[in-house]
Amino acid sequence: MKIKKGDTVLIISGKDRGRKAKVIEALPKQGRLLIEGINLRKKHVKPKKSGEKGQIVETPAPLNASDVKLICPKCGKAVRVEYKIEGKKKYRICKKCKQEI
Ligand SMILES: [Zn+2]
Repeated sequence: MKIKKGDTVLIISGKDRGRKAKVIEALPKQGRLLIEGINLRKKHVKPKKSGEKGQIVETPAPLNASDVKLICPKCGKAVRVEYKIEGKKKYRICKKCKQEI
């Protein structure tokens, strides 16, 4: 997967389209990403102790990696990335500005 935890991405489909947010977690096995404040789902939380009220909290649900584009920290644009392998090192390169990201 080309997007990692901590990356800033642009959402390109769904109800949050056009928003920019940070990746909180990458789930490479599922090809999905958990993104801060994006694709929020309401979740009911049961009270832990008697006498407490149940709550509704909003938690982000994972989004398909194909629904986002990486924002390059070097040129600030929504870009595609490619991998470059040199010996044992693997670099991510921005296709627009050609810099390592
Ligand atoms: Zn760039």
